[in-house]
Amino acid sequence: MRACILLVSACSLLAAQSAPHVIAIRCGRLIDGKGAAARTNAVIVIEGERIKEVDAAVPQGAEVIDLSRSTVLPGLIDNHTHILLNGDVTPADYDEQLLKESIPYRAIRATVNVRTALMNGFTAMRDLETEGAMYADVDVKTAINRGVIPGPRMFVATRSFAPTGMYPLRGYSWELQVPSGVQVVDGVDSIRRAVREQIGFGADWIKYYSDLHYYFKDGALHSRPNFTDEEAHAIVDEAHRLGHKVAAHSMGREGIASALNAGVDTIEHGDGLDDELIDRMVERGVYWCPTIYVGIYVAEGRAAAGATIWPKMRDLERAAFAKAVRKGVRISFGTDAGGFPWTENQAKEFAYMVKYGMTPMQAIQSATSVAAALLDEQDNLGAIEPGKYADIIAVDGDPLSDITELERVKFVMKGGVVVKR
Ligand SMILES: [Zn+2]
Repeated sequence: MRACILLVSACSLLAAQSAPHVIAIRCGRLIDGKGAAARTNAVIVIEGERIKEVDAAVPQGAEVIDLSRSTVLPGLIDNHTHILLNGDVTPADYDEQLLKESIPYRAIRATVNVRTALMNGFTAMRDLETEGAMYADVDVKTAINRGVIPGPRMFVATRSFAPTGMYPLRGYSWELQVPSGVQVVDGVDSIRRAVREQIGFGADWIKYYSDLHYYFKDGALHSRPNFTDEEAHAIVDEAHRLGHKVAAHSMGREGIASALNAGVDTIEHGDGLDDELIDRMVERGVYWCPTIYVGIYVAEGRAAAGATIWPKMRDLERAAFAKAVRKGVRISFGTDAGGFPWTENQAKEFAYMVKYGMTPMQAIQSATSVAAALLDEQDNLGAIEPGKYADIIAVDGDPLSDITELERVKFVMKGGVVVKR
């Protein structure tokens, strides 16, 4: 009898596996993420976790989801986040988290942050370092992938690199052993070993801090590169050799130039981009994550705390952004969420991208097809077309006429599973 029951359940399991669940979404307006004109009254057919057809008829027996009064888009991708950070306007905010919160506590908060991001429509994120929380991003990613907690598809950078003395926590008595926000590395051998170690512990991306000590001179933003050319090259070379890509925090001219010389794949922040650097990025196909919103969010608070350069950097980035759009830099949506608290919707970045010179369609592509290409996930993510994962969102209005609609996502599906409705 027991064997019989087991047999029956095994059979029904096999039957369930051989006939994946079919869903049909009726879309009022459909924006595909690749820049095609919005379509009306399309039907998306989903089989299992992927999109099977678009503009199809509703298959017989399919579960129908009616979004005929909404605009449907691909799930959003944020290529610069910090799920283990909860806002750091001032150094004190940052130090408090590293000194008074254990890594387990920070990981618990991260589980809430990834849920928030998913509910706001972000179905994939590249998380660019844990800020002292070691490899906790890998653990959060594992928990999401195993279905323990809801969250976006995560691409994680683990610990990031800076040389001795160049990254917080700084300013404490030399008698104290305080935690560091990065993995401290010096010299080519130590760098190659550290890249191998991070990849061994689950890093998808390698991130390093290319510069520090920002200052204005002759209207341009300058900085001091953290690493020697030899060291920066070793980071990129070792990561590429092992099949991983590299993101460089670089804000001033010298830091950006150093990162481009080293051969990085993405420039983060890049406030000091000028014509020559922009041309080099276009030529080499390097992506830029401008992280506009965080610069605006922290500028006044940092200025009040004595760092008066931040409002100037905010204004400079606006000019750099407009120039980069005109020259055709591959600009990916990236917000630095975590640098501002997760209670702020990271989708606020869209409005600034449009205000600074993108069309709403370009801004949407920056968080869909362009962002997916940055991740080398163009076959899986970033568009509503056959073969892609069914990562799909919907909003009530038309984001092409009001981009802030993306701050009010009403429906979220990840891998064919509805997570918000
Ligand atoms: Zn960041």
